[in-house]
Amino acid sequence: MTAPEFNNSYTDLPPRMFAQVAPAGSPDPELIALNETLAARLGLSTDWLRSEAGMAMLSGNALPEGAASIAQAYAGHQFGHLSPQLGDGRALMIGEVVAPDGKRFDLQLKGAGRTPFSRQGDGKSWLGPVLREYLDSEFMAAVGVPTTRALAAVATGERVQRETVLPGGIMTRVAASHIRVGTFEYFGIRGDLEALRALCDHVMARHYPEASSPLEMLEMVVAAQARLVAHWMALGFIHGVMNTDNMAVSGETIDYGPAAFMDGYHPDRVFSSIDRHGRYAWSQQPHVAVWNLAQLASCLIPLMGSDQDKAIADATRVVHSFPATYQAAWMDRFCAKIGLFPSAEGKALIDRLLDLMASEQADFTRVFAGLSDGTARDEFLNREAFDDWQHDWQAQSPDTGLMRRTNPVRIPRNHRIEQAIQAAVAGDYAPFHRLDAALRAPFENRAAWDDLSNPPLAEERVTRTFCGT
Ligand code: AMP
Ligand code: MG
Repeated sequence: MTAPEFNNSYTDLPPRMFAQVAPAGSPDPELIALNETLAARLGLSTDWLRSEAGMAMLSGNALPEGAASIAQAYAGHQFGHLSPQLGDGRALMIGEVVAPDGKRFDLQLKGAGRTPFSRQGDGKSWLGPVLREYLDSEFMAAVGVPTTRALAAVATGERVQRETVLPGGIMTRVAASHIRVGTFEYFGIRGDLEALRALCDHVMARHYPEASSPLEMLEMVVAAQARLVAHWMALGFIHGVMNTDNMAVSGETIDYGPAAFMDGYHPDRVFSSIDRHGRYAWSQQPHVAVWNLAQLASCLIPLMGSDQDKAIADATRVVHSFPATYQAAWMDRFCAKIGLFPSAEGKALIDRLLDLMASEQADFTRVFAGLSDGTARDEFLNREAFDDWQHDWQAQSPDTGLMRRTNPVRIPRNHRIEQAIQAAVAGDYAPFHRLDAALRAPFENRAAWDDLSNPPLAEERVTRTFCGT
């Protein structure tokens, strides 16, 4: 039972890239959830995490020796508009740990109090966003999507003021790193080439050791994002706020503020209350990713040698490589969803099926999960059209095992998350724990969890989600 052994590297970068800051602390912390599987993966002692010293860390009351305790500087394009100074306003990086397999991870407290980047905010979080991110990110990990993870959720015992007064919470987030496209922008827009170079070297050493130049790094970030977004699409996942400050260069999904999984399928589905024009709708996500990556590219161009015309041409070519990688990943994922290897026939069948689904807003998860057990037909009103499709699909001899391994039977449905949050606010964490357990086995049919696969009743439907403030 020992404290985490920190091995910090971000703090070796120029000091203007972060601010040293202590967490505000929690008056009466209570551990809601500790992710023991993740703790083991990181080589952290669960006994220590549950100890007084461990709880002090997870609630921001006292950090162990060797902690970095920093807020990172970043900028970002929010809905297309540049905010030159964002940064960790309600998050604090405790420090980095190296897992038994040699992989390096950041530990971060989300909701631990004010930092120099908090602007008007209180630096706190209420329980809702903590539990939502915990469930969403752990589900993503369970289905194999690169993502930040949730190590712990704590109720702080403090009340935070939002539209109403709500119980406060802190989530301990684990990430390959918290470096964002917006981190590069922060230094790019300031013309700080020294910091940009240091950041680039840090990212290459940490995430892309095969890259030997900023251009090669860009190529790898573009490919990682193309594969990531294709994976999101195949789950009906809508990130909701794909600002450049919410895009990690590691290729992990980050920042689950208004994120949501679709129930009824429609390509233009949007949940975020602030996304009035559907900029971040499901179908827009690959286009937005390219837009964001173009921002990253423009930050890197000054590092790409003295022939800037050539640098611009090279960077442009790399950003334009996104669609090919994305299309290939999309084909792999969606063809697998209908039990086929990638093929033109498969693509045509998917397009037809998605059109049918969209015309009735059929349930995304239930249709695909139902293909392997013969219940997909029940999800349609126009059975004739589905039968026609099914006839042509069966002719391709789909692989049932492949479908079962690909299509989750359960997703973190909005209404279930909402119910778990409501119960938690009232002091009952049982629905949260039940949902968490079920989402960790997303491909497993189990009668006791059948209700969690159901779409929402009309009165349960959640049509709007909110940023995690
Ligand atoms: P988001 O849109 O949730 O990714 O957050 C955008 C920016 O707002 C980031 O710089 C956050 O740190 C900051 N922020 C959000 N909520 C708060 C808060 N309650 N207190 C301080 N800063 C916040
Ligand atoms: Mg953010």
